[in-house]
Amino acid sequence: MGAAMALFYSDVFVLPLPAHHRFPMGKYARLRERLLASDAFAPDEFRVPDAASDAEILRVHCPRYLGRVARGELDAAEQRAIGFPWSQPMVLRSRQSSGATLAAAREALTRGWSANLAGGTHHAFRDRGEGFCVFNDAAIAARAMQAEAGLARVAIVDCDVHQGNGTAAIFRGDDSVFTFSIHGARNFPFTKEESDLDIELADGTGDEEYLWHLERGLDETLERSRPQLAIYLAGADPYEDDRLGRLSLTKAGLARRDRHVLGTLHARGIPVAIAMAGGYARDIDDSVAIHAETLSIARETWRDS
Ligand SMILES: [Zn+2]
Repeated sequence: MGAAMALFYSDVFVLPLPAHHRFPMGKYARLRERLLASDAFAPDEFRVPDAASDAEILRVHCPRYLGRVARGELDAAEQRAIGFPWSQPMVLRSRQSSGATLAAAREALTRGWSANLAGGTHHAFRDRGEGFCVFNDAAIAARAMQAEAGLARVAIVDCDVHQGNGTAAIFRGDDSVFTFSIHGARNFPFTKEESDLDIELADGTGDEEYLWHLERGLDETLERSRPQLAIYLAGADPYEDDRLGRLSLTKAGLARRDRHVLGTLHARGIPVAIAMAGGYARDIDDSVAIHAETLSIARETWRDS
């Protein structure tokens, strides 16, 4: 086992959802249990991060939106767009999960890599949330590292099956944060934003074609952005048996994806903060297994460094 490091979790903060709600809230605790049961990580490597502060959130979101989320003033349409009924635990969890990606970015700058065992809330815009996303954790983490560590260039590598539309909109016209999204063309959101680089794939795209596009997209991303930090959204929802994803990657294909992204970043000396992002497999243990494999591959990749 490599030197002790820190992974950040928020699964102790759960929000009350109606029965049969399609958001797999139980996924996160199961992921941490699975990692604990494996030999890859020690119990003291799992930490609860500080919640993202107002100041950290306000580098990305507008004061009016943050205030209305915090005070429970979102109207019915806004809550429907987010997909969660407003509750105080929802606010707490959203702050906590953003804090986890921020903490993972900070840790990555000293240790090479770290992860939030949740996060990847890339559908959150500056002034609104949607698609189970309230605050944009990757954007908050990128801005925090620019402010705290003086980073000039950050790349967001978004391999969730859904386009990172909120992230794309937040950083539109900002050369200091490069946004790359590789996603299903016919997956939500149905009106796409413009990332710095978008790769849209047809329904049923499988491992080989996906990896061919990913390799080129990642090369272009790193060449154009020369990042000092990458934030990797390792969504499990391109999986062939995902209820929401329209791509057809196998578990082996997703592991090759992770090995390629993480191996390339490691080889180029680029630190990476990983967020889990989506995963809605028919059998939720499949999503948990895919997320766990991402973290095992990261640990393996940085083992000797
Ligand atoms: Zn997704």
